[in-house]
Amino acid sequence: MPEHNADLVVLGGGSGGYACALRAAELGMSVVLVERDKLGGTCLHWGCIPTKALLHAAEVADSAREGEKIGVQSSLAGIDMAGVNTYKDGVVSRLYKGLQGLVKSRKITLVEGTGRFEGPNAVVVGEDRYVGKKVVLATGSYSKSLPGLDIGGRVITSNEAIRLDHVPDRVVVLGGGVIGVEFASVFKSFGAEVTVVEALPRLVPNEDEFASKLLERAFRRRKITFKTGVKFTGAKQTDDNVTVSLESGEEIEADLLLVAVGRGPNTANAGFEEAGVAMERGFVLADERLRTNLENVYALGDIVPGLQLAHRGFQQGIFVAEDIAGLNPPVIDEAGIPRVTYCEPEVASVGLTEAQAREKHGEIQTLTYDLGGNGKSQILQTQGAIKLIKAGAEGTQGPVVGIHMVGARVGELIGEAQLVYNWDAQAEDVAALVHAHPTQNEAFGEAHLALAGKPLHSHS
Ligand SMILES: Cc1cc2nc3c(=O)[nH]c(=O)nc-3n(C[C@H](O)[C@H](O)[C@H](O)COP(=O)(O)OP(=O)(O)OC[C@H]3O[C@@H](n4cnc5c(N)ncnc54)[C@H](O)[C@@H]3O)c2cc1C
Repeated sequence: MPEHNADLVVLGGGSGGYACALRAAELGMSVVLVERDKLGGTCLHWGCIPTKALLHAAEVADSAREGEKIGVQSSLAGIDMAGVNTYKDGVVSRLYKGLQGLVKSRKITLVEGTGRFEGPNAVVVGEDRYVGKKVVLATGSYSKSLPGLDIGGRVITSNEAIRLDHVPDRVVVLGGGVIGVEFASVFKSFGAEVTVVEALPRLVPNEDEFASKLLERAFRRRKITFKTGVKFTGAKQTDDNVTVSLESGEEIEADLLLVAVGRGPNTANAGFEEAGVAMERGFVLADERLRTNLENVYALGDIVPGLQLAHRGFQQGIFVAEDIAGLNPPVIDEAGIPRVTYCEPEVASVGLTEAQAREKHGEIQTLTYDLGGNGKSQILQTQGAIKLIKAGAEGTQGPVVGIHMVGARVGELIGEAQLVYNWDAQAEDVAALVHAHPTQNEAFGEAHLALAGKPLHSHS
């Protein structure tokens, strides 16, 4: 078997794997990157980018439909899915080309094929064996289903949902987490009748309860039906429709059932178990420096328990490359990773929820600033709020440990929010900074003014 040696061998060319490869090459390492499908992985081809393109098309559709409300004579003539897909695929292919160029320009050896990890430090692809001084496992995740619920026909996952050639009349979305509510939002804007089914008591259940409440209110206004705290019991499909049964006895008929019940780690049949990689429920266990139990073997991205987000993968990839290079990068604080749900309205957060903050800090203070007092939000006709959580009781000094936002475009405010959290800033620090008027960002500043005890456009 031909053997090739490199400083670093990365298995999986998604957000985590390619970021690690790029940074390692930048630091002077020879790098082999093994990818069985397309460089860029889930995020670029199946996840973040295609879904956000669909959400942008959805926003344009809403603007056309609602133009009359602000005196712009417009109406939505319809959604041409072929056109939407051409736009979406164009965005993906431009980014894909750019990424391919980047990998080439850094002289990374891209090996196209299915890799199998072989201990202690090799990846085998076909007849070739790539031996690394260090190996990084970054094989990503796949859409899960529920026992007895087979994907096919009218039962689809996000993989099929991003490629539909028509807008269904009626959709049931199984799962009210990030992916579920984003698709619910797109389908509704495109004109479908949408029902979200979530077993937990609220939509976006990983977010602060405040965010769930505001999102649910907005979905009600948008006439997106949702059923929370109710379990799915089965689905039957015919040539004409799919009938979804719930534990409550209710049956919902639809044209499509989108299964969005979470993503499982892609770790089977890749040699991990045989090589003795420590795993739990299919996830690879790694310490805070992303080292597995095997010497010289790291793991990162969606296969490591925690937030399944592209930018977490990017950061972990950079971290591992720098750790290998001996730069001793600081450990990534998982709570400091920003989270954005891009439905309409958006949900964005960083840091702790109120419940987590109470558990960690005991005494806390919370403040909610309504976007109703914010000029730009009024202009955009959006409703929502910003909730801040401070460690320590009212009247004491303490950093802001949680920021939760709901409203159109609030995802764009997460940049400042994550600086506040990650730099342990206090409300007074932010209150002293000037926020441009009229922006939604100003609401962020005003929330901190209010938390610092000097509210401007809000009641104390
Ligand atoms: C619908 C959807 C929307 C999303 N939206 C967002 C968003 O807006 N923002 C965000 O931050 N995150 C989003 N995500 C999540 C994001 O896509 C993932 O967190 C991210 O892609 C994880 O990166 P990764 O490198 O761990 O894995 P992946 O991107 O899954 O990459 C793993 C790669 O490894 C390859 N691979 C696997 N096994 C092998 C093998 N044996 N040999 C060779 N190659 C192999 C795969 O082909 C794949 O390319 C979304 C996900 C989905 C599904």
